[in-house]
Amino acid sequence: MVSKILIANRGEIALRVLRACKELGIPCVVVHSTADADAMHVRLADESVCIGPPPSRDSYLNIHQIVAACEITGADAVHPGYGFLSENAKFAEILEAHGITFIGPTAEHIRLMGDKITAKTTAQELGIPVVPGSDGEVKTEEDAVRTAAEIGYPVLIKATAGGGGRGMKVAKSEADLIEAWSTARTEAAAAFGNDAVYMEKYLGQPRHIEIQVFGDGEGNAIHLGERDCSLQRRHQKVWEEANSPALNVEQRMKIGQICADAMRKLKYRGAGTIEFLYENGEFYFIEMNTRLQVEHPITEAITGIDLVHEQIRVASGGGLSVKQEEINFNGHAIECRINAEDARTFVPSPGTITHFHAPGGLGVRVDSGAYQGYKIPPYYDSLIGKLIVFGRTRVECMMRLRRALDEFVVDGIKTTLPLFQDLVDNQDIANGDYDIHWLEKYLAKKPA
Ligand code: ADP
Repeated sequence: MVSKILIANRGEIALRVLRACKELGIPCVVVHSTADADAMHVRLADESVCIGPPPSRDSYLNIHQIVAACEITGADAVHPGYGFLSENAKFAEILEAHGITFIGPTAEHIRLMGDKITAKTTAQELGIPVVPGSDGEVKTEEDAVRTAAEIGYPVLIKATAGGGGRGMKVAKSEADLIEAWSTARTEAAAAFGNDAVYMEKYLGQPRHIEIQVFGDGEGNAIHLGERDCSLQRRHQKVWEEANSPALNVEQRMKIGQICADAMRKLKYRGAGTIEFLYENGEFYFIEMNTRLQVEHPITEAITGIDLVHEQIRVASGGGLSVKQEEINFNGHAIECRINAEDARTFVPSPGTITHFHAPGGLGVRVDSGAYQGYKIPPYYDSLIGKLIVFGRTRVECMMRLRRALDEFVVDGIKTTLPLFQDLVDNQDIANGDYDIHWLEKYLAKKPA
């Protein structure tokens, strides 16, 4: 059993985890950089420790400081949130070596899924459908030409160590291939310090559909359905929904079962997300995230299960609180990521929030650390909150979302709220008719 949890994160997710700890009656400690001394997660915490100056590498990514904060405060578990150290296998190992529980999977599983080639090979071995592609790394020009001919054009060259949509190049024909392959290698070396690349079939108009899984580390695992995160800009998710407008119950249960079976075989522990591209009725694995996702609340809305409670329970050795057959998928949920950015140019807009009013009412949830007078520091990502709306049907959810957006006021800085006001009135969105390129095309055509 864990007796005191240190939350190694900031912003809305630190607050999210803090709320779960309070509900469970588990004492907790938050950490913060000097730039975040006034943050909501710090204000609401019973105990807080300053771990360093604003740059993340000196504070939220500083493993020594975080371990020291655990030792000073007597915390025997760490919740890493998402981003920062959440997928850092070394961090998980160091904590375990200090007798501190990492609320997440084993370091071995983090490592397995952190490398794209081993992740893909493992997925395939576990019976998860993958994108047709090279057998591991593509090392030479001849290798690239031969593999592309086998897969068929267009192909995508991806960095093994890639992340955040960087280090990818499309080749439409053999004429493009050599250049795409060598540029991808050069860019991968510069961005990730590793020039290894592999090749996949390039899918033209897929949706991004991901499955939420949970394991107890002992060979029991469940799935909590899917999230459709196709609405993206520069590979960053903007709007997510559960269920996907593209899947029916049979398709949901079939892919969910495949993922849960895979996690059972792996003896996976904790929360995980298996991401797929989905095209013409087929799923193609792209990666697995071994942590809680930003968009987890839409899954909570349609299943009624608190994913952070579940993470803490599993980490404490209490196992899963539900069996697959007890999980019901009810209604529809949509999440809008509210960023402190200009809604047209997406240029960050840090500064002081002069007025803040969050919407409320039935089916409306706002996860945000923002408040009136809060000064958004310029050092971190621009997510300032998430609006999550639930309805019994997708139509009801959209009606409620429109109303909640009208009610939401954030003054003093620019936010992406106006973008969502446009999207909620768009006919393609109303029809659920969009793929991963839809949003960028829409933004390109939109009059200024
Ligand atoms: P990263 O870790 O860099 O985010 P992913 O493998 O998750 O890399 O891919 C990021 C995005 O790139 C996907 O969401 C999708 O938009 C696009 N993508 C990845 N693989 C393919 C593919 N085989 N065909 C088409 N698009 C792809």
